[in-house]
Amino acid sequence: MNLIEETKFIMHKYGITANKSLGQNFLINENVINSIIEISQISNEDLIIEIGPGLGTLTSRLLDKAGKVIAIELDTKMLNILNDRFSLYKNFELINNDVLKVNLKELIEKNLNQNIKKCKIVANLPYYITTPIIMKLLENNLPLDSIIVMVQKEVAIRLTAIPGQKDTGAITHSIYYYSEPEIVLDVPRNCFIPSPDVNSSVIKLQLLKSPRVKVSNEKLFFDIIKSAFSQKRKTLINSLVNNKIVSSKENAEKLLKSANLDTKIRGEKLSIQDFANICEMIKKQQ
Ligand code: SAM
Repeated sequence: MNLIEETKFIMHKYGITANKSLGQNFLINENVINSIIEISQISNEDLIIEIGPGLGTLTSRLLDKAGKVIAIELDTKMLNILNDRFSLYKNFELINNDVLKVNLKELIEKNLNQNIKKCKIVANLPYYITTPIIMKLLENNLPLDSIIVMVQKEVAIRLTAIPGQKDTGAITHSIYYYSEPEIVLDVPRNCFIPSPDVNSSVIKLQLLKSPRVKVSNEKLFFDIIKSAFSQKRKTLINSLVNNKIVSSKENAEKLLKSANLDTKIRGEKLSIQDFANICEMIKKQQ
């Protein structure tokens, strides 16, 4: 049986119809799965967290390679399938919950030990919550080695862009601050059942040992970045003043001049180092 037949068979056997509102598009292309496994470089010393295992197509391949696989699935309809397929595997754990509600830090720390040394996230993500999932993975100080996830292609381009160049958003800076991002595979829409309306890409975020730039107040740093992207058409000065990060236009102008930046510059033109410099100057003024 090939993967398309197997997927249809499982869906028919368990009476599954893909739930669009849960972002269910099941992978049916063997080559794509092989590539994801290869890119993830999984060893028996790895803990893999799979977000949204669905019918278990990727899960079964992860289980062959990893020291342990923890699959987090929200849809209760998938539980029988996953348990029937994998409950005999000693290295399989299934959590029925919304990934956004799971305490990942506690979960990972509990599972890392002398034998299982690294944690990687490998997943074909539910696209409707791509951004909150990635922000949670990056901002919660998790002991992660890397994040290898399938996302919508246009989103992949924005997530892996170099800040200061085009196609960036506040999340681009967060990703660049914590990781080395790259698009590792383009995946056309016909590789899924049902076929989504968009093309996809797999991105790899290799977590950095320490953040890319030094800032003495991370909250302020990210508040500045969020404010710069909250009103894209506004100049950075207006955004900083409107969001009450700097008290007056005059102060903001002085700040930008001492950072060697044009006073009419918009947030999207700034590099991550520019934001770090501004952050340190504002901190000194406080
Ligand atoms: N891994 C499977 C595959 O590649 O064929 C399915 C991937 S499908 C794109 C996304 C999966 O995420 C679905 O199984 C869906 O039920 C699950 N999901 C959706 N929202 C979720 C959430 N908040 N937490 C955990 N899983 C979720």
